[in-house]
Amino acid sequence: MSIDYLSLAVSEVQQLAPYVPGKAIEELERETGLPADEIIKLASNESPLRANPHVISAIQSAAAQITRYPDGNGFLLKRKLAEKFGLDPEGITLGNGSNDLLIMVAQAFLRSGRNAVMSQYAFSVYASATTAVGATVCEVPAKEYGNDLDGMLSAIDEQTRVVFIANPNNPTGTWFDRDRFESFMDKVPRETIVVLDEAYIEYADDPSLPNGLHYLRRYPNLIVCRSLCKAYGLAGLRAGYSASSPQLADILNRVRQPFNVNSLALAAACAALDDEAYLDVGRQINREGLHQLQDGLSRLGLSWIPSRTNFVTVDFDGPAGPVYEALLAKGIIVRPLAGYDMPNHLRISVGLGPENRRFLEALTQVLGRGEHA
Ligand SMILES: *Cc1c(COP(=O)(O)O)cnc(C)c1O
Repeated sequence: MSIDYLSLAVSEVQQLAPYVPGKAIEELERETGLPADEIIKLASNESPLRANPHVISAIQSAAAQITRYPDGNGFLLKRKLAEKFGLDPEGITLGNGSNDLLIMVAQAFLRSGRNAVMSQYAFSVYASATTAVGATVCEVPAKEYGNDLDGMLSAIDEQTRVVFIANPNNPTGTWFDRDRFESFMDKVPRETIVVLDEAYIEYADDPSLPNGLHYLRRYPNLIVCRSLCKAYGLAGLRAGYSASSPQLADILNRVRQPFNVNSLALAAACAALDDEAYLDVGRQINREGLHQLQDGLSRLGLSWIPSRTNFVTVDFDGPAGPVYEALLAKGIIVRPLAGYDMPNHLRISVGLGPENRRFLEALTQVLGRGEHA
């Protein structure tokens, strides 16, 4: 008799579905036989630049020490972050990607009988981390695809321990400004932890957006999560951090795995933070690429959601699945959003100029709109 082990898993886990990542280049290579160097991946909001040579040499130097456990307190990386951003090192928590920090928050503050407030079209990890620990997801309808901060405020009740908000938001690219953030934070009960996820903040060259790090003294219930995987280009190594009060950092450290950030990622993160020029090049290429994509999409008569990130989310005004599949057949990987209840949309990460151009040409063919003007 075969045993259904799923029925033996805790009920919270039975409710979960595994995270669906953007399709890997190697996977499409196996499926289609297209050579890897002809495949373009615009699916996971990664940096389109080549790996930073300074980071590569820092990893090479650190490699000789891999028989040793990493520094579990990440002393050097915390000191670098503290200097660069004017933070108290005691308030910094390091993560194996910022994903790791979101899970630590859920483990530390959520359980059955408690809830977390988040927006419709929020990053899927907020809901999975909440559900995994037995807490309830309280989803607030989005407003024009973005966080409705007033709606989220009204949703907070006695059982709410955490509010998750991303600014700018993934998968929609939307954002809110400083005034809206401050008026929201001024009204959130101090007993409710607000996680401000700034995974894309480096790309938001709009000065009206709040910088979460500037608000840590004013709001003791604020945890700002940042990633080194996107604009800093360390997606394959995994590195992120949060900044908060030292007391909240102490709480997160109680659930953190002892050596959650590996020694190569620690060394790479320090080198990446030192190289402001790499970040500037990435931002400039992103600015141009975002315009290139938005212009091209508009010329094809498609509407897209305004974005302050390194991706644009496009409305196909009908099921987008066939477009996704047809692009795959041409060696172009983008991100379907049916799992986010946005079956008519695709999310396109900004690539290098020639990659964006190839995407637009392929899309023109797929839609049968003739030559791309
Ligand atoms: C990519 C992303 C993250 C996770 O980033 P990692 O540092 O790679 O774990 C967190 N939040 C949002 C909104 C993201 O898009």
